[in-house]
Amino acid sequence: MAYEEPITDYDEIVENCTCAFCGCNCDDLTYLVKDGHVVGVRHACRLGASKVMEDMDQRLMVPMIRNEEGELVETDWETALDKAAELIAGAVRPVFYGWSETSIETMKHGIKLGELVGAVLDNQATICHGPSLQAVQNAGYPVNTLGEVKNRADMIVYSGNNAMNSHPRHMGRYSAFPRGYFRKRGRFDKTIVTMDPRYTDTAKMSDIWVGFEQNGDYEFYNAMRAVLRGKKLKKDVISGIPKEDIEELVEAMKTTQYGCLFFGLGLTHTLSKQRNIDIAINLIQDLNKFTKWNLVPMRGHFNVNGFNIFMAFEMGFPYGVDFSRGYPRYMNGETNTIDLLTREEPDVFMVIAADPGAHFPGGANRHLANIPVIQIDIHWGPSTELADIVLPGSFIGVEAAGTSYRMDGVPIYMKKAIDKPETCRDDEWIVRELHERVQKIKGEKIAGK
Ligand code: SF4
Repeated sequence: MAYEEPITDYDEIVENCTCAFCGCNCDDLTYLVKDGHVVGVRHACRLGASKVMEDMDQRLMVPMIRNEEGELVETDWETALDKAAELIAGAVRPVFYGWSETSIETMKHGIKLGELVGAVLDNQATICHGPSLQAVQNAGYPVNTLGEVKNRADMIVYSGNNAMNSHPRHMGRYSAFPRGYFRKRGRFDKTIVTMDPRYTDTAKMSDIWVGFEQNGDYEFYNAMRAVLRGKKLKKDVISGIPKEDIEELVEAMKTTQYGCLFFGLGLTHTLSKQRNIDIAINLIQDLNKFTKWNLVPMRGHFNVNGFNIFMAFEMGFPYGVDFSRGYPRYMNGETNTIDLLTREEPDVFMVIAADPGAHFPGGANRHLANIPVIQIDIHWGPSTELADIVLPGSFIGVEAAGTSYRMDGVPIYMKKAIDKPETCRDDEWIVRELHERVQKIKGEKIAGK
């Protein structure tokens, strides 16, 4: 990596900002501001810094509507909002998807709009940690905060997750390296284990790497539970791991003082999906008969957890919430975005702070190409290519303040550091405006106008 000169040309420092990238929600960032633009970021990892630093070449700056030739052309806010409201008000099966990279305050207006038109509201959990949420409903949620891990944990397990690449400051800020109240020597007081088929960067930083076979998670966890319950393993090798290694690992987990299991998409995306998390939760509960253990899902976006917490608080269900009957319903496999799109049900799709164009399977995106798509976002991306109406929002934690929830459920207030471009609007304002306009259209219909 080439040496980069430190940035010295700035005229303002804004401290205690929160990174709007991953579920670590690092809230110790310093922005270097010059002429109203962030020109440098201190303390963030490369992922966080590259998101916060200005990349105006990719920025969505003006509202746009796709014309009859298929081109997105600039329009004014009134026209774009009216057209979007008209589409939403006339939809039979609207889906409002995304939300994980915007504020709770914006979601509040999204729920109101969803209730008004009988939409399905869903977030990125549907393609990410949704199986973990299902498992929590099945088996419970022995969770702890990241602060408890920092101060107490002497054994940390990363299972099906490569924190060094996906959450780069996780090990440095919360788990392996920080010196905690009861872990004064930091890394020397902790045993780090990575369970992953690949020898990842996280495995390289660990004391123990358990390279079990891909899709072997359930069998491996099952074997650990059996050993923990005093059973003899009948097979010599389980999921590619010799039984002696499993026995040794279980003994270490049993005799530690405080352990935490961080798990990721290696468990939620492989065979058995939510059942992998079920059994991981069961293992933690079994371990608690001997010592203290908890787990934390490595939530991806900085506010993906926020949508699930807020939705569950407001409506009783965490994601894939269907208001089509006038009350909230939640049926996995029925009311999740990918299922709906694959069945070609939605007739209008609003995507806010997400990029399904880049991250959805082809079959789902094929239907998006055939229906009106409204996009609220700050960046041009594959979803913009699918969008018929584009509404440029603002950057939470940089240009707009808002609340988010960290991966462990701790709420963080993300402050504003600079002004947004004059032609853009706050996400919260955009969704509130849409709600008001749709309400007006519905009112006029009822009045027979
Ligand atoms: S670890 Fe995550 S939240 Fe922290 S600076 Fe990096 S991307 Fe941002």
